[in-house]
Amino acid sequence: MHPAIVSKLPEVGTTIFTVMSSLAKQYQAVNLGQGFPDFPMNEELIAKVNEAMQQGYNQYAHMNGYMPLREVLTEKIRHLYGTAIDPDREITVTPGGTYAIYTSLTSVLRPGDEVIIFQPGYDSYIPNVVVNGAKPVLIPLKFPDYTFDWEAVRQAINPRTRMIMVNSPHNPTGTVLRQTDIEALRSVVAGTNIFILSDEVYEHVIFDGLAHLSLLRFPDLLERSFVCFSFGKIYHCTGWKIGYCVAPAAAMAEFRKVHQFNCFSTDTPKQAALSSYLQRKEEYELLGTFIQKKRDYFLELMKGTIFRMHPTYGSYFVLGSYNHFSDEAENDMAIRLTKKYGVAAIPLSAFYHTPTDNKVLRFCFCKKEETLEKAAERLRALR
Ligand code: GLN
Repeated sequence: MHPAIVSKLPEVGTTIFTVMSSLAKQYQAVNLGQGFPDFPMNEELIAKVNEAMQQGYNQYAHMNGYMPLREVLTEKIRHLYGTAIDPDREITVTPGGTYAIYTSLTSVLRPGDEVIIFQPGYDSYIPNVVVNGAKPVLIPLKFPDYTFDWEAVRQAINPRTRMIMVNSPHNPTGTVLRQTDIEALRSVVAGTNIFILSDEVYEHVIFDGLAHLSLLRFPDLLERSFVCFSFGKIYHCTGWKIGYCVAPAAAMAEFRKVHQFNCFSTDTPKQAALSSYLQRKEEYELLGTFIQKKRDYFLELMKGTIFRMHPTYGSYFVLGSYNHFSDEAENDMAIRLTKKYGVAAIPLSAFYHTPTDNKVLRFCFCKKEETLEKAAERLRALR
């Protein structure tokens, strides 16, 4: 007899990224759904991983991360954000950004705690909160420009509020934190016991000359923050699953209690390779310009389609509306586009918990030009 399952996540199905990527494969559609580059990563970085393996970097790394990597990361943070981070106590290398977020939440949340989450938002946040017995409190981004609604946050705060989750550049909308958002966040958390989880995996993927307002820049916010990053988004290797988290020493100590008995440590040869490769500042400093070109090209191509594209200031993504064209549900539209027109995108409703259908799809433009051209050509057939 199988034991009865009382699910901890009864509402959770398979993530939309897996669903749409599988459908794209099945119908040989151009996949602008799941966010990953379709062009090759840097050969030299691959060679460095091989070299590290040949040189014997094949056993467990330190559970908190290979020290030379933590050191070069603290140097990067000082260079970019002017903040001194202790590599020994305030930074941990993780198997991916999603893992860093999950571990941060798990290290502080208790049953009954409330967590403020903006929606639309990345699809792992809510299940990560729920599995810890805590309660997501959902605040809509303002429609149609998807900006942060700090007044609504202020009203949602109460003594059970344990954390606010922010994400900039924002997946799926491409909204970025502005100085006014930082001021508002500051005033909302001042004098409270609220932690901040800042998902900054698209830190370098920011456009139009905007500066990334990392919470690492603001000591009064950093003292209550877990800030999470991903190398996959810097070096075009989302399958590497390697990232890191920065937090003040006391919070990081709790993070490590969870991390050490979950994954324990992170891939050694990749950490060794990254510790030398990261010294090349231009690689990450030019990333925004490189991906902005793709954004601009895709927006130009999409002019020939029925989609009305929203502005996007960062991330791999842009939203396209079709409410003036049809009232077909987003999910049905996404499936029909994949099966009949050969282009996969993500229905924005997948990023909401409260059922919401504004007739918007998310497109990933971090692709080769020919991929974007092929997708736009196929989308032009939708009339
Ligand atoms: N971050 C990627 C996206 O938003 C997907 C990651 C995943 O598939 N889990 O598309």
